[in-house]
Amino acid sequence: MVKVGIIGGSGLDNPDIMKDAKEIKVKTRYGAPTSVLTCGSIKGVDAVIIARHGKDHSIYPSKVNFRANIMALKEQSCTHILASTAVGSLREDIAPGHLVFPNQFLDHTRKRETTFFDEDVVMHTPMAEPFCQNLIDLLSSSSDALGFEYHKNKTVITIEGPRFSTKAESHMFRSWNADVINMSTVPEVCLAREKKMHYAAIAMSTDYDCWREEEESVTWEMILETMKKNAGNVIKLFLDVIPKLKEYDDLCVK
Ligand SMILES: [Zn+2]
Repeated sequence: MVKVGIIGGSGLDNPDIMKDAKEIKVKTRYGAPTSVLTCGSIKGVDAVIIARHGKDHSIYPSKVNFRANIMALKEQSCTHILASTAVGSLREDIAPGHLVFPNQFLDHTRKRETTFFDEDVVMHTPMAEPFCQNLIDLLSSSSDALGFEYHKNKTVITIEGPRFSTKAESHMFRSWNADVINMSTVPEVCLAREKKMHYAAIAMSTDYDCWREEEESVTWEMILETMKKNAGNVIKLFLDVIPKLKEYDDLCVK
């Protein structure tokens, strides 16, 4: 049985796409998730939506209880996770408004709980392919059909935040072959992997970070404005991809 967990990111904290929506408040052994769970169905597929930064967007990236969020989705029997996230672009061709479906990450976070396996069991989770390639391909073919500009199989670097990068950092991340930058994909994808859920990020490019000389350096207002303008595309993509998950069975998570 396919059940999709949707993690709404900045500018998409509360996508209104659910039928027969019911809000439930849960608690996990790692604490409460960052929002109530909105449960229902989307085009015939059972779904649960969680707001990564709270429904009122009041929770800083470093304060997000990623373990509680992933655990809550697992306890609701979610098999797949589609996570929306705003990203800064480190590449000329990834323009604001474009979608990005990363297949690799670089972890530049510093103070987050990044594993479920830190207590009574030693476990080294394979992370060579952290994202679900089948979901990436599905998101890409839907984006083709919908006529959206997108970039697949890119590398996202997650920084601790809440501050943005310096120019020196931004140039360094480019030299590390990172394509986009955000504050939320790690450890979310790692935790989903540990719980054996298929995970893909739907990243919306909102700005050029601060490496591009001819561009104004990123501000929070810029991010929100681009997200607001393009949130409709992410929602259309959700609505197109989610029903396709029904015929979905893959072996990417072992
Ligand atoms: Zn998969």
